[in-house]
Amino acid sequence: MIEFINAWGANTPGAKTLHRAGWVLISPWHLIENGCVEVEDGRITNVYKIPSGRVFSGKNTIAQGPLTQDPSGQGQSGQKIIDHGTGVIMPCLVNAHLHLELSALKDCLCFDRGFAGWVQDLLEKRDAAGEVVLAGEAKKAAKELAAHGTGYIGEISTQGLTKTIVQSLNLSGVWFQEFLGSAQDALIGENRIKKSDLLSFSLAGHAPHTTDPFLLQAVKQQTRAQNLPFSIHLAESDTESEFISGKKGQWGKFLASRGIDTSLWPTGSKSPVQYLDDLGLLDSSTLGVHLLNIDGRDLDILARTQTRICLCPRSNQNLHQKLPDIGKMLEKKLAPALGSDSLASCDSLSIFDEMAFVRQKYPNIEPDKVLSMATINGARALGMEHLAGTLDKGKKSAFIYVDLNEPTKSAIIESLTTHET
Ligand SMILES: [Zn+2]
Repeated sequence: MIEFINAWGANTPGAKTLHRAGWVLISPWHLIENGCVEVEDGRITNVYKIPSGRVFSGKNTIAQGPLTQDPSGQGQSGQKIIDHGTGVIMPCLVNAHLHLELSALKDCLCFDRGFAGWVQDLLEKRDAAGEVVLAGEAKKAAKELAAHGTGYIGEISTQGLTKTIVQSLNLSGVWFQEFLGSAQDALIGENRIKKSDLLSFSLAGHAPHTTDPFLLQAVKQQTRAQNLPFSIHLAESDTESEFISGKKGQWGKFLASRGIDTSLWPTGSKSPVQYLDDLGLLDSSTLGVHLLNIDGRDLDILARTQTRICLCPRSNQNLHQKLPDIGKMLEKKLAPALGSDSLASCDSLSIFDEMAFVRQKYPNIEPDKVLSMATINGARALGMEHLAGTLDKGKKSAFIYVDLNEPTKSAIIESLTTHET
């Protein structure tokens, strides 16, 4: 059972609420047994351990008596006390890369025709579904996010259908309008980008081999001007690596058939990561997604430019029968976030499920590192680490309670990272 607690903006000014649980996980490296999170005006104001057999009184002091002695739930100074149970209060999970817009395609696509076949199938079925169905299924999937413990999202929208949905459901994170092909720069101006503590609006490029490099630079420039994250699929497929290395191949023919002139694209003898670096697109507010086809030199570039990275291993397994080299990324001190990608390539949008998959496929990666991928690394990837990702004082009072009954810190982390929803 996962309970979502979001007091962001919901508190009466000056009213304090104390959330108690068997454990409070401030971060994967800092757990408190019998802990309390104090919340006021939508922010976390304190996190501390309650001495056993004692109860809250006012002003952070502790008095004798059982916690639940007051049936009204009111503390001695009128503050509200909520005792959640034996489980753990922890940061909301972050799904740093998803496409709610493709939710209607769940279980509709085959993975056995290769990646290009899958993309072709996706485009045909997406167009056949129509905007009403796509928006309806996107809304349904968006409503389930909180039940999966996800409090922050990096939603990628190609058609713009999910903007009002994420706004109407008060979802937090970043909504990205995605660009691909060779659309004119003028089109970017129609998309208002805006930074906010609740939901920011930013821009994304689709991928190095699908999007005009000059358009990518223009999009990145817009997001950089407002210090917003810029997201791009990067080094995902063999087709992409082949095209960027200078062999036009099938992909070059495909772009030509769609009237896209690639003669001025500066491809040749490069990897997708090196190509983006040469275009000046990599920095600490760029979020590269997938990173399946990279080598040691690419890892050095990502580390040097402090590029954020997001991995979607379940989607990679389905589409490419291949997984990213997370061990090497961690060796280079890169801090991967996790994303589900869309329901067109993955069974669920749950980051608990993504963590469980990572634990299963990467038994040598420590469980606390996996949990950090789903929390603080995701918050950094979306430029929200000052608000989310841990339960440190001053961050938003949005967190989750997971109903567990585990005796030790390591058993808690083990349970959280293998807990499929
Ligand atoms: Zn994607």
